[in-house]
Amino acid sequence: MRVTTAFNRLLGLPGVSVTAVCFEADQLVVDVGLRRRRLQCPKCSFSTAACYDTRPVFSTWRHTDMGRWKVIVRAGLRRLACLTHGVRVEAVSFARHRSGFSRDFEDLIAFLATKTDKTTITRLSRVDWDSVGRICERVVAEGLDPGRLDGLVSIGVDEVSWRRHHHYLTLVTDHIGKKIVWGAEGKDTATLDAFFDELGDQRAGQLQAVSMDMGAAFNKSVRDNAPNAVACIDPFHAVKTVTDALDVVRRATWNELRRLPDQTAAKKFKGARWCLLKRPENLTEDQAATLRQLRRRGGELWRAYSLKEAFREIFSGDLDPDQAAELIDRWCSRASRSRLAPFVKAAKTIRKFRDGILAAIRLKINNARAEGLNNHVRLITRRAYGFHSPKAALALVMLSCGPIELHLPHEQSPD
Ligand SMILES: [Zn+2]
Repeated sequence: MRVTTAFNRLLGLPGVSVTAVCFEADQLVVDVGLRRRRLQCPKCSFSTAACYDTRPVFSTWRHTDMGRWKVIVRAGLRRLACLTHGVRVEAVSFARHRSGFSRDFEDLIAFLATKTDKTTITRLSRVDWDSVGRICERVVAEGLDPGRLDGLVSIGVDEVSWRRHHHYLTLVTDHIGKKIVWGAEGKDTATLDAFFDELGDQRAGQLQAVSMDMGAAFNKSVRDNAPNAVACIDPFHAVKTVTDALDVVRRATWNELRRLPDQTAAKKFKGARWCLLKRPENLTEDQAATLRQLRRRGGELWRAYSLKEAFREIFSGDLDPDQAAELIDRWCSRASRSRLAPFVKAAKTIRKFRDGILAAIRLKINNARAEGLNNHVRLITRRAYGFHSPKAALALVMLSCGPIELHLPHEQSPD
């Protein structure tokens, strides 16, 4: 078998034939020629036999590694004059437009980005993290289900931070399909308005429920744009309000302990954060022991903890809306009498959004499900912290939680 024939089979690049192979210091350079004579516009379906000119330099793409070798594909490309897009370098079928990587290589990196961390990917692939971000953007732009905004009836709106220093993304979740269907940089009314612009009046009119947090920004946009939707407060966010109140009490207690001359209590207490915030059934042995100690100690912190657990319980069972309403009211009066300032404040907030919270329970906007997706999104956005562009962070979120199917090179049908 000739070397070029062998490499044709090994690389599996559609639309090209290998003409030469040469080994350099740490890479393998494979020269290819396009089999197609007609020139194809990279941005549309326009094709022509007329060559505008030939690029004076070779174009190169990184392809999937072979053994320890980087593989560089090299070709001389021509330019064409598209009626719509003007003079452009012709498209190649094995790589996405304006990419320095083959499609196979990008699909592999995009898959890894949804599964593992930055250090693993950059070390394994020898590609820097921002390039990984741009790869994610290209894969998402091509692969995201174009019908993802059709037929939405129940959605959730949420904000997540994708970088330190207050960089946020707004994400829209389809509660039925359990996928994230839309996202953009920012977290104000205008950000969500942009979603409704894209959705259009007709599809927005079909929305029956929109769940969100208790901030004013999203509430206003939903009121203005989704006339038939019931505004619901995600149980997740309601519970978070109460959990945050507990955390304020916890910090105050810790600061008191730290001021004591004997530091043993403060040191012991330092690990208490997770045992207070986690669900009791998820505690480790040590955390459960710490919790029992806190219980024996009693006082404000234990009262705060009991209030938090009582509130969380309201959303964990199969209570009907009437029972839930009664328990929420009872909880609010208990919290307002607790003499714990953060809980008095939380009770006020919960009272204010009582209807929205009950609407979520009535429409069965499932807390566990939303929380599961939420936790996954948070994991992914933490991974995106190293990116410099919100578009890349958003692309990674959509790759992991959006309606898109990723295929590895060997899973694609050979052409
Ligand atoms: Zn074109």
